[in-house]
Amino acid sequence: MIAEKMKGMVANSSAIRAMFEEGNRLAGIYGAENVYDFSLGNPNVAAPEAVKQAILELLEEEDPVTLHGYTNSNSGYADVREAVADSLNERFGTSFAGRNIVMTVGAAGGLNVILKTLLNPGDEVIAFAPYFGEYRSYTNNYDGVLVEISPNTVDFQPKLDEFEKKITAKTKAVIVNTPNNPTGVVYSEETIQKLAAIMEAKQKEYGTEIYLISDEPYRELVYDGVEVPYLTKYYANTIVGYSYSKSLSLPGERIGYLVIPDEVTDSETVLSAANVANRILGFVNAPTLQQKIIKKCLKEKTDISYYNRNREALYQGLADCGFECIKPEGAFYLFVKSPVADEKEFCAAGKKYNILMVPGSSFACPGYVRLAYCVSYETIVNSLPKFAELAKEYFS
Ligand code: PLP
Repeated sequence: MIAEKMKGMVANSSAIRAMFEEGNRLAGIYGAENVYDFSLGNPNVAAPEAVKQAILELLEEEDPVTLHGYTNSNSGYADVREAVADSLNERFGTSFAGRNIVMTVGAAGGLNVILKTLLNPGDEVIAFAPYFGEYRSYTNNYDGVLVEISPNTVDFQPKLDEFEKKITAKTKAVIVNTPNNPTGVVYSEETIQKLAAIMEAKQKEYGTEIYLISDEPYRELVYDGVEVPYLTKYYANTIVGYSYSKSLSLPGERIGYLVIPDEVTDSETVLSAANVANRILGFVNAPTLQQKIIKKCLKEKTDISYYNRNREALYQGLADCGFECIKPEGAFYLFVKSPVADEKEFCAAGKKYNILMVPGSSFACPGYVRLAYCVSYETIVNSLPKFAELAKEYFS
């Protein structure tokens, strides 16, 4: 019999799998081009050409035993970690060294490493709704308790008054994700400063360490020149989790890193624990080939203009139909207000037009739906008349 803890997780992931299967079923009946599947955050822009070149060069240059071997340190290759630190210092004016970087199996790997490193059973982890639903599973993996801050549906910046009240002596970590999945909102510098001040005060009040975990797979995906504050500058106990899944369109390659700055309390102990967690969680460190590719591609970026064109077309198209939505400043998601309170009912209505959307309750924010616009431009254009028909069911 499976573990009690897994039962809830299995029930939850069947809902996501059901959506996957629904997309495939509809594509089988109507043809993939007639299905408007906005459900998955899987980049559809190819990785930059430089990634392919890097792979070819590595296959020629490197000893195959090393290239396909275990990484030589749990935290990754020293030259790769130094190159990542240098690149961050150049871009954000930070002063990290290679020792502050732990190469990870994507952001998901990084989050699991840091939560395993920090959490004792019963420790609380705060997340601001709407949030990436996996935070709950990751926290649960280490017997932590996820504490939710309710959504601020005016501008989707975090509700700081509620946050302040919900920090307790058991709060060990706070996860922020900006640019945000599912809203596309970037937390303002003012928000970050206030959040940091609250956390400083609470650390003093309780005499505890409260770590700020910045989950930032979408850092590079921003529009209209919006700046994303680098959080280690605002709060000493900040740990950054980064990923190349979206910024270089490499989600299947599983590569990212954690930044654990010297300013973090007992940073050496935290770093050595993260180093061990990276090995013992079962995925045995970040893949060697991917680390070496990253070193060669640190200046590369995905083609943001592609997502921007989709963003403009979908946002405008939905607004013209009467739907309400905040214009996203980053990532590749639109978070649309459901015209009926039960957004699952709205998702079901969308399916009649072959439109697939994710209910906001998957992100702890019912009453909204998420559309991932990392799809072809044609899908966006062709979906708009269908959205117009869907809108007619609600607005006349
Ligand atoms: N965090 C957020 C907010 C995400 O949206 C995702 C993936 O969609 C992840 C983490 C996990 O990303 P990775 O592929 O780097 O593990």
